Amino acid sequence: MQRDVESRAADEESEARERVARRDAAVRAAVEQGLLGPDAAVAGLLDVTGIRRSAAALRAAFDAALAPGTPVLHAFAVKATPLVPVLRLLHEAGLGAEVASPGELALARAAGVPASRTVLDAPAKTPAELREALALGIAVNADNPQELDRLDALVRQAPTRSPLGLRVNPQHGGGSIRATSTATATSKFGVGLRDEGAREWVVGAFLERPWLTRLHAHTGSQGIPLPLLARGAAETYALAEEINARAGRRQIDTLDIGGGLSVDFASEVTAPTYAQYARVLADQVPGLFAGRYGLVTEFGRSLMARHGTVVARVEYAKSTGGRRIAVTHAGVQVATRTVYAPEAWPLRIAAYDAEGHPKAGPEVVQDVAGPACFSGDLLAEGRALPELEQGDHVAALDTGAYYVTAHYAYNSLVRPGIYGFTPDMGGSGGVTFAAVREPQTVAEVVAESGGAHADALTTLRAPGSR
Ligand SMILES: *Cc1c(COP(=O)(O)O)cnc(C)c1O
Repeated sequence: MQRDVESRAADEESEARERVARRDAAVRAAVEQGLLGPDAAVAGLLDVTGIRRSAAALRAAFDAALAPGTPVLHAFAVKATPLVPVLRLLHEAGLGAEVASPGELALARAAGVPASRTVLDAPAKTPAELREALALGIAVNADNPQELDRLDALVRQAPTRSPLGLRVNPQHGGGSIRATSTATATSKFGVGLRDEGAREWVVGAFLERPWLTRLHAHTGSQGIPLPLLARGAAETYALAEEINARAGRRQIDTLDIGGGLSVDFASEVTAPTYAQYARVLADQVPGLFAGRYGLVTEFGRSLMARHGTVVARVEYAKSTGGRRIAVTHAGVQVATRTVYAPEAWPLRIAAYDAEGHPKAGPEVVQDVAGPACFSGDLLAEGRALPELEQGDHVAALDTGAYYVTAHYAYNSLVRPGIYGFTPDMGGSGGVTFAAVREPQTVAEVVAESGGAHADALTTLRAPGSR
């Protein structure tokens, strides 16, 4: 057993070393091939090899734990990386899509993810969105009693192939980051099971609706320790057992345990792993994997974070008040959470020289600033790094989920291009890139900012005036 644990840790370390080698090769090649340069000061790079490996690790971890033949759908949480080619890659790797808006659903469809492998969860679905999902046969998890009422009406109007479920909140408490803790007593998601009379209401809601066959809980995202995540699954499982016992049949046939596995943003080595999570689940909720329930998962960050790197040129290096500052092109527009909440969302920064080689040399405490016009636009503050000089590059690591892919339009900064890469690690040192998203042009920024309506306000007249 101990040997096992040690050899798994060694696997994770060698995986991490290979990932760093691929990333270094990609940064170097991106500079060489001009994806980064005078006209492209910032770009996002996606490690296609790494994405494939994470998808495979997720599937293998749960396949190893589940009774053979158990239906399982790993639906990737699209909000983590809303890019059509990424969704297609994950689909090809055997994953589905979890969507929470008409835009995310459209992305999943554009990627070719079939309805049968798509799950719709959102706290504010409109009647039109619900109707479309049911017409397509997409699985829907209702958030609250009013939404169940809407589903009642739709199910009466037309038969649907959509598996339908209810999202519950076990209210067992949050993790270290308030904004991503979804199982607090007052979280906005799902039906709170510990509220007075709520559990009994949920049981009744299922007994009245024979077509309600799934139970869903997503109990947090980043900062939730494994035992707490597993507790969410345990409470969901216990409730399903209770409902099925009361119904006298296996009405609930599928449990959706959400995503929420944390990423260690302080280290290159992945921990916890999917295999560790699956083992904790198997230990704490053995019935979950016994084959009596189909399983849906909804991981986002843990699948993609490691595989994205934002690389930006150092435009200027200066010193103010005794502090070195590298002014770069990566800031709040690509790392919104880190810039606004640096304590909760710190990122590792890697230094590369002007040619894209890892930068060596003695470390100097410095700030890595972004391009936006407010003083808090810092990717990192007081960080010890090799001294960054004009023309060097900085890389914000682990930014494949919820970062460059979720652009923030502050200062009308353009959305950078995103490129997938596959290096030939065999010896040639070559790297092939594919554009995943072209850089936004300034003309597109003008168009999105009302460019076609330039005189809309100057020509506006109150009713009756002339
Ligand atoms: C955001 C979200 C996820 C994904 O969470 P991660 O922490 O990225 O794994 C899954 N399910 C739901 C309902 C979500 O809102």
